Amino acid sequence: MKYLIETFGCQMNHHDSERMAGLLEEAGYARTDDDRDADVIVINTCSVREKAEEKLYTRLGEIRLLGEETGARPVVAVAGCVAQQEGEKLLSKTNGQTIDVLIGTQSIKRLPMLVSEVRGLRTEARKSLRGDSSTSYVGPRTSTLSPRVDLSPYDDVSFPLGIARREDPVKAYVTIIEGCNEFCAFCVVPYTRGHERMRPVSDILDEVRLAADTGAREVQLLGQIVNHYQAPDDPSCDFAELLARVNDVAGVERIRFASPHPRHVTPRMIEAMRDVPKVCRHLHLPVQSGSTRVLQAMRRRHTREHYLELVASLRAAMPDIALSTDMIVGFPGETAEDFEETLTLTRAARYHSMFSFKYSPRPNTLALKRMPEDVSEAEKTRRIVELQAVQKAIQGELFAAAIGRTEHVLIEARSRRREWELSGRTSGNTVVNLPGDPSWVGRIVPVMITGANPNSLRGEAVLDTAATGA
Ligand code: SF4
Repeated sequence: MKYLIETFGCQMNHHDSERMAGLLEEAGYARTDDDRDADVIVINTCSVREKAEEKLYTRLGEIRLLGEETGARPVVAVAGCVAQQEGEKLLSKTNGQTIDVLIGTQSIKRLPMLVSEVRGLRTEARKSLRGDSSTSYVGPRTSTLSPRVDLSPYDDVSFPLGIARREDPVKAYVTIIEGCNEFCAFCVVPYTRGHERMRPVSDILDEVRLAADTGAREVQLLGQIVNHYQAPDDPSCDFAELLARVNDVAGVERIRFASPHPRHVTPRMIEAMRDVPKVCRHLHLPVQSGSTRVLQAMRRRHTREHYLELVASLRAAMPDIALSTDMIVGFPGETAEDFEETLTLTRAARYHSMFSFKYSPRPNTLALKRMPEDVSEAEKTRRIVELQAVQKAIQGELFAAAIGRTEHVLIEARSRRREWELSGRTSGNTVVNLPGDPSWVGRIVPVMITGANPNSLRGEAVLDTAATGA
């Protein structure tokens, strides 16, 4: 029996998919990348943006057609934030025809059991079909084939060690916090991932050690507000202390984390970033708007001024730090002057990269309920085009300034585009492509930067046989 998992959305979702893959393999399923070959298809959904949600409906339609074509409809499980947010409404939206399992963000441990229940029901249904026991296709759903659903909120954040099937041989995702208590006015996450729950530091370190023992060189600590971490099993371990303890794990060479909230960036955290040697010189620090007035409407609980002070403190402590951010344009009430402040903040912060979005109302959120949209779609488009042009120019300057420097690049993979090319990242999280030997994957290689593309750098390995083993 084979499974296929399709993942939309953030690193947290990708890591949940790694966990679900491991659970299905423990239950005897083997992975396939071909949907025609899959007995179980899991779609791990994202609802942070409307477009990501629409992809689910498109994909369900494709899978239904595939089942009709091949005569063997796979068990279809919908997991992730859309499943949690829409709940059983999703079944009626899709006429109950395509989804066999609906599983929430906090229930993924129950996936194999629910899939097995559906398979058991199908077997029973086949047996009862008169005169036809040869086909595995079961047509329109009957009441005996009603979907299995678990959307329960669970406080338990434990996960069995060694089950997750890491997709990346070099980087390991390790969850440290689940959920979020911030309730920013635009954000669906507190409704889909529940309230904030911290993982014990002992579990986190066990997982980091295992990842390092099985080849991971970089650990990415994940949480909705990762820097709010406080170990439930050790009062002396806050986020800064956790960085120090992960640093002590043999085999780990780099530590990253996503995403911090500006209001929890403390001097202690900045010192830890500066002093803990394996912490990368990169911080993704979501700001969302450059206007304090808009930030207040968004309920972000930080101001433009405080954010820029943080940027200054980070640069004073680590002049080489690379910053990135998330930005929303066209939030309800955003005026031309507010947007101008977003542009000036972008110029002041000089981000190495930015994820920018046009505001779209999301289900359940305060903005949807209380803040009518008053920025037209055309104006949102005009603003995002202008913002992206400003960001592109800054990025171009930063990348051009890197030419001639030697960067330490963790080689992550062979390039997808060219056989002879490798791809890796600097400590500042910029992608670098270079010619090299595939045996370098997983090693940190000194690379002379020789050129810049809009979103990546090009380089040549500085021949150092000790570092590359070449
Ligand atoms: S901090 Fe705000 S934007 Fe981030 S996950 Fe929580 S509610 Fe969403």
